[in-house]
Amino acid sequence: MNGKSWMARPAAFFAGDPSPMAAHGAVAVIGLGRFGGSLARELTAHGVDVIGIDIDEGLIAEYSDELAFVSRADSTDEAVLRQLGVNEVDRVVIAIGSDLQASILTASKLLKLGNKHIWAKAISEPHAEILHQLGATNVVRPENDMGTRLAHLIRGHISDFLPIDADFVLARTTPPVRVADVPLASVGVRSRYGVTVVAFKRKTSQYWDIGDPDVTLYADDEILIAGHPKKVEAFSELDKDDDN
Ligand code: ATP
Repeated sequence: MNGKSWMARPAAFFAGDPSPMAAHGAVAVIGLGRFGGSLARELTAHGVDVIGIDIDEGLIAEYSDELAFVSRADSTDEAVLRQLGVNEVDRVVIAIGSDLQASILTASKLLKLGNKHIWAKAISEPHAEILHQLGATNVVRPENDMGTRLAHLIRGHISDFLPIDADFVLARTTPPVRVADVPLASVGVRSRYGVTVVAFKRKTSQYWDIGDPDVTLYADDEILIAGHPKKVEAFSELDKDDDN
């Protein structure tokens, strides 16, 4: 355990008063496998106190010096979760995938304990459905999401791709020739192509600017566009159509 131990927080942290906890913003990560472990490290790198829980002693030893607090525990045990004060933590991540039973039981115990903001990893559609039905706020499918993202990146026109929902994405790309060199409003990007140019970055700048209607895009700009995945994709491939 390192110096900024979660257990060493002031008593108010444990006293059931949510304000110091919310202000503090500790996150519990249950399961320190590849996904949970890298998430816990990333959160820690951004200054978030992470309470890492895993049933595997070796993993607990591996993370003991890196995270604010670690505990070797079975997360399906309600008494243990209570003992660790997980019920008082505002945000909890269940990073257990392959062990379906452990994942589902942990989610149900957390919900029973009153945890409201639960992120849970699922490894299949039925797994995701059960977690949703139980009431997990956010269910992520890292392999799936990464696959979708990678498919767009590999195809070449999009350099970053962030699915917000099934019907809405953000993508980083370059302006197609036919929308460049004239103000955005005169092209009617939104009405004609069904996407919104949210922001743009000039080649010579390191900053992003908002994509106002009077902005003129140039071929060597980078742009951030938002819309339905199909429209975003079609827009990013407009130059390809011109080539044919
Ligand atoms: P990865 O993130 O490595 O791909 P995975 O999806 O294969 O993991 P699991 O191996 O099922 O998921 O679980 C991830 C971690 O959760 C493991 O380190 C495992 O020890 C831990 N874990 C599994 N069950 C429990 C439990 N009941 N209580 C606490 N930790 C658990």
